[in-house]
Amino acid sequence: MSSDTIFGRIIRREIPATIVHEDEHCIVIQDIHPQAPVHLLVIPKEPIPRISQAQPEHQALLGHLLRVAQQVAQAHHLTEGYRLVINDGLQGGQTVYHLHLHILGGRDMAWPPG
Ligand code: 5GP
Repeated sequence: MSSDTIFGRIIRREIPATIVHEDEHCIVIQDIHPQAPVHLLVIPKEPIPRISQAQPEHQALLGHLLRVAQQVAQAHHLTEGYRLVINDGLQGGQTVYHLHLHILGGRDMAWPPG
């Protein structure tokens, strides 16, 4: 259920991370280099490399990740709003090829994101 990226190793508890949520399908961890006062990563346990490679059978899992993001944001009191980001591939700025959803909050966000 996990891969050989750094996130697979975190899921397997081979390296430490601050885990703020875990369920059957995903974990949520604090980003090691936070870009906002709250910067969390929602990571499916299934190692889908990138959103562009998700398949029709992943539809329920993808919905679950969004629902978990919503609940975790609420638990972190991001009542003024927050941003959800998925980077895909080289031009999308993806650096870890195990799908993950960024939750960024606690400050005003700029647009365009750059
Ligand atoms: P990407 O650029 O792929 O969208 O995001 C990868 C994210 O993973 C980055 O925000 C980076 O700071 C975070 N990250 C990379 N390595 C680690 C790690 O070992 N532990 C944690 N908690 N976050 C990591």
